[in-house]
Amino acid sequence: MPTLTAPSAAIDSLPISAANATFIKRANKLLINGEWVASASGKTFPTYNPATGDVITRCAEGDKEDINRAVAAARAAFEKGPWKTMTASERGRIVWKIGDLMMQHADDLAELEALDNGKTRGVARHVDLPLSWDAFHYMAGWATKICGQTFPISVPYMPGSKFHAMSLREPVGVVGQIIPWNFPLLMAAWKFGPALAAGCTVVLKPAEQTPLTALRLGELMIEAGVPAGVVNIVTGYGETAGASLAAHDDVDKVAFTGSTEVGKLIVNAASGNLKKVSLELGGKSPNVIFKDSPNLENAINGAAGAVFFNHGQCCVAGTRLFAEKSIFDQVVDGIAERAKKIKLGFGLDQDTQMGPLVSEEQLARVTGYLDAGRRDGAEFVTGGVRHGDRGYFVEPTIMTNTKPHMSVVQEEIFGPVLVAEPFADEDDLIARANDSTYGLAAAVWTNDVSRAHRIAKAYRAGTVWVNCYNVFDSALPFGGYKQSGWGREMSGEALELYTESKAVIVAL
Ligand code: ADP
Repeated sequence: MPTLTAPSAAIDSLPISAANATFIKRANKLLINGEWVASASGKTFPTYNPATGDVITRCAEGDKEDINRAVAAARAAFEKGPWKTMTASERGRIVWKIGDLMMQHADDLAELEALDNGKTRGVARHVDLPLSWDAFHYMAGWATKICGQTFPISVPYMPGSKFHAMSLREPVGVVGQIIPWNFPLLMAAWKFGPALAAGCTVVLKPAEQTPLTALRLGELMIEAGVPAGVVNIVTGYGETAGASLAAHDDVDKVAFTGSTEVGKLIVNAASGNLKKVSLELGGKSPNVIFKDSPNLENAINGAAGAVFFNHGQCCVAGTRLFAEKSIFDQVVDGIAERAKKIKLGFGLDQDTQMGPLVSEEQLARVTGYLDAGRRDGAEFVTGGVRHGDRGYFVEPTIMTNTKPHMSVVQEEIFGPVLVAEPFADEDDLIARANDSTYGLAAAVWTNDVSRAHRIAKAYRAGTVWVNCYNVFDSALPFGGYKQSGWGREMSGEALELYTESKAVIVAL
């Protein structure tokens, strides 16, 4: 049983730095037009420590009126203000500085993330933070490299005429960004980085479960020199603040990361003014292990990490394992052995290896799927239940004997839950691996280089890992096929989502 040492709700008794304790007491404002302001309604909402269910603090509950004010500020900053006249190099330096400030405050940011989200301090500090500051550093370099092209046009119906034709890449304008709770700071970085590098202005709506690090990032952005109105942060609920942002007529583009279900609502809401939409949605990623895998121990470790990292609360989680028949039992037993040893607990306790799920709602959702699997006849190799009776813990779980139609096989669970099935050969495998409405990520473990390439091509997914899993980099495009999304984040491709191309034709 885990020992939950997370103490009472009082901030002063939490095992956090003095800087974080002070920050949390002021984290009850919205960032609008460079000012920290209360919500128009004066309402607040609680954010919880998921290890105990205690309230950490209350944040400002932004709503339609706050979104209107934030969008107006972002519009003014886009049309007038220093952001528009600043050189690309100056803009890039500010974006770079945000990354530097995140590095400088990495320990506090990681602690805050672990407290609010439930993940371990180590994961927050050594995975979320470096990826987050790198997203800013990487995008800072792009600010000076966003270029149009020239075109040798012929204009066949105007014989003898001469033109100089080119395209300009210009910022798309005011961007609404709505992010989830699984990697709160990283998702903010993936959204802010390219938007700012491109010269857009932003209204960000963090997830209501994890508002704290986005607010702290807002402070650091002001310190980095981001002009007033260029970034606005409105905390609040999805159905109110988020929906108002997605529907707002003066927002030019909405970028969303979250569930496929809400992604569809965003698309509908965006249709009013036909704003541009980019979506990074759910997944149900296949992870395939062949018996010729170069090192089976590595593959088993990789498969365990693929599903249990971040408590399975990853859109790319390798939740559908396929192992070749002859090694199936060995692989499943190996993952189960590792699952049983994972130490669950408060993310800020040093020896914790897996924290709680983010919320009571998420706990209910994941345990609901476990019940459904049980009812449908799946066998539980390990786990399958809530862990303890305080906080939102679920035991790392492996199910076998599943059938393709079961909800645990088809739907994204977003918890530490693996379904494992044997396969006979490559032909049998591909159709089953691709049998999903999602297409975010996929992996294969094999020593056969031709097979690795064949399978990488055959997968209908935005990212394919070969003999590895969860390898991310700012330089790599990330996004989904099928119902896993529209567009790509990170890499130069992300800039396409934040710029418009304007053709300019000059008569000579
Ligand atoms: P989850 O179901 O995993 O909590 P969601 O897709 O509901 O993920 O949430 C991701 C983000 O979308 C959060 O910031 C949430 O507040 C926001 N959101 C939820 N519902 C809506 C909505 N109807 N319109 C806009 N944003 C929403």
